[in-house]
Amino acid sequence: MTKKIIGIIISKNKYLEHDEILNVMTSDALISILAKGVMKLESKNRSNISLCSLVEFEILIKYSSESFFLLKKATLLSSLPPINKLNSHKIETIIRIFKKIRDHNKDIFDICSSIVSDFEGVNFFKNQSYLISMILDINGEGLSFSSCVLCGTNQDLHSFDVYQGGILCKNHSKSKTPILLLKSFYHLGQSLDHYISITSPETNKQIFNILSRLLF
Ligand SMILES: [Zn+2]
Repeated sequence: MTKKIIGIIISKNKYLEHDEILNVMTSDALISILAKGVMKLESKNRSNISLCSLVEFEILIKYSSESFFLLKKATLLSSLPPINKLNSHKIETIIRIFKKIRDHNKDIFDICSSIVSDFEGVNFFKNQSYLISMILDINGEGLSFSSCVLCGTNQDLHSFDVYQGGILCKNHSKSKTPILLLKSFYHLGQSLDHYISITSPETNKQIFNILSRLLF
């Protein structure tokens, strides 16, 4: 019996002579899929399982002797462009971020899928920052974006201090965060659409740098 699932290939390991084990993020788990024969040139699945691709996998579900599923067919839905000098840092960063996800859910999976499908898109870097904030949250290192970390008020928000755990009100702030940066942090706690609409590319870059230092 087979079933179809959609997932993103996070990493791969060579297995035996011609096989690979694919570590795949789905909307609710990280699973391992044994892809037999994919190292052979004539393999039909070979070109559809590159790293970070969004793939529809047809898997055999009765293959329980090992802790992985067996791949029957891989259909490529979306993939990153081939790696080159210009995009290698961007691609490596995505892979590093994806590997930090310790728990899986549909929201995380949806944004990871957007990142893969929209690699050249205008919102790519904002999606990436938003994803990091979600990963920190799900990994138990979440920051407070909407109310003061120390007293819980959402009035007179004044600064953002990553070491204190997020946003601070005027009474608890030691310094002032520039208003545009503060606003964008606030909207990270609202929704991706809010964050995208309010944040400039420059502010997003600052936020990405701050959040990624926490993640890595
Ligand atoms: Zn406070």
